[in-house]
Amino acid sequence: MNECTTRSLAQMDQESHFHPVSSISDLQKNGPAIYTSANGVTVTRDNGETLLDMGAGLWCVNVGYGRKELVQAGAEAMQQLSFQHCFGGAAAEPTIRLADRLLNLFRSTVPGSDMARVFFGNSGSDANDTAIKLMNYYHNLRGKTAKKKIIAREGAYHGLTLASGSLTGIKSYHTAFDMPLANVLHTGCPHYFTFGKEGESEVAFTDRLIAELEEMITREGADTIGAFIAEPVMGTGGVFLPPKGYFEKLQEVLKRHDILLIADEVITGFGRTGNWFGSGTYGLRPDIVSLAKGLTSAYFPMSASLISRRMWDVFEGASEKMGVMMHGFTYSGHPVGAAIALANLDVMEQENLTERAALLGPVLLKALRNRVGENPFVGDIRGVGLMAAVEFSGFPKASAPHKIVAKHATAAGVLTRALPYLPVTSFSPPLTISEAEIIEAVDRYARALDAATPELE
Ligand code: PLP
Repeated sequence: MNECTTRSLAQMDQESHFHPVSSISDLQKNGPAIYTSANGVTVTRDNGETLLDMGAGLWCVNVGYGRKELVQAGAEAMQQLSFQHCFGGAAAEPTIRLADRLLNLFRSTVPGSDMARVFFGNSGSDANDTAIKLMNYYHNLRGKTAKKKIIAREGAYHGLTLASGSLTGIKSYHTAFDMPLANVLHTGCPHYFTFGKEGESEVAFTDRLIAELEEMITREGADTIGAFIAEPVMGTGGVFLPPKGYFEKLQEVLKRHDILLIADEVITGFGRTGNWFGSGTYGLRPDIVSLAKGLTSAYFPMSASLISRRMWDVFEGASEKMGVMMHGFTYSGHPVGAAIALANLDVMEQENLTERAALLGPVLLKALRNRVGENPFVGDIRGVGLMAAVEFSGFPKASAPHKIVAKHATAAGVLTRALPYLPVTSFSPPLTISEAEIIEAVDRYARALDAATPELE
């Protein structure tokens, strides 16, 4: 008899699959959650239950599930040229067109930006690894060989490879992995609601963080600091919006000390904040931009790193001497991923999804404030575009309210994320979500919170 017929799929999963970011013991006790299909904002489980996915997967399915345009573009590209690497100067048409389009998109939507080239990879983590390597390459080529430390922020999430995971500023991701690497420093988390001191204004909070950063740079020596990495809005940390004046003052400090700015736009890229890029929303002028997730709406694993003119000029100037630039991946610039990304951008443009995120963000926030704002354990509700958070406060120390609510929410038919740093539930639905779906999802979440509240007391 076929083994599949004697063992359930859940059993097979338990006996064979090592899940990422999952509890091994929970999985042994409870088994996996198996999904079978998805369309629009709705995902379906193997037991037939449907749920509204208010996380868009992991903040990534920006154009929604089941988009025929992307499926067709992928199928056609696979038929035409199923693979072409980009090593040694090779390339395929979709890859070239995507690089050109991304540069134009960034230049035209982020005033004052000057991006010169696009490097492709496979994931947000590898894009941030690429950023670190290119930081080293840049400073080495300029003879500033000591400029190798990177400053990230507490509460940041930049991925989970050895290098990008070291930039991540959430301790639970480091435990027992011998991380972070020694060249990574973490400065204060710019989340005013939780880390602002009693009586401290938002501007004073910003000034304190900037002063702390200046102290760190002085202590370490500016000649040892190569780059600062920041998500325009910190996603996994808890949807932390930058406090007043933060990026303006930060960039002034970085410029003064010849420190590169890496914008990690893996979540904020492609419409999430109501503009094409979070750099546009918050006035960043980065030297490197990491993109992934919404680049293909997760129909294909792909990342892109945008490189500024000043870095590119150094790379180009040293090329004769350096020879081959020895960085890249088998799948860098994969033609199928590039074709899907182009179709994804077409959909985003045709359906005005960035504008849609800007219009629907306030609808989501208003619904959350109306429906859960009065709950005694809800401390703050915030967001920008279609990226929102409910932060809990005032609950008994031992409980993890966001996790308890998440379980009830799943039972009520809505997927939300309980984040790992602070007690926060995040909402980041596909940008195609309708107003009615937002209201319905928030209603289900509110009912889940009502059901969970006695457990929080
Ligand atoms: N950077 C940010 C801001 C992210 O949110 C993530 C993933 O959630 C990453 C990097 C890592 O991306 P990946 O999981 O594709 O490696």
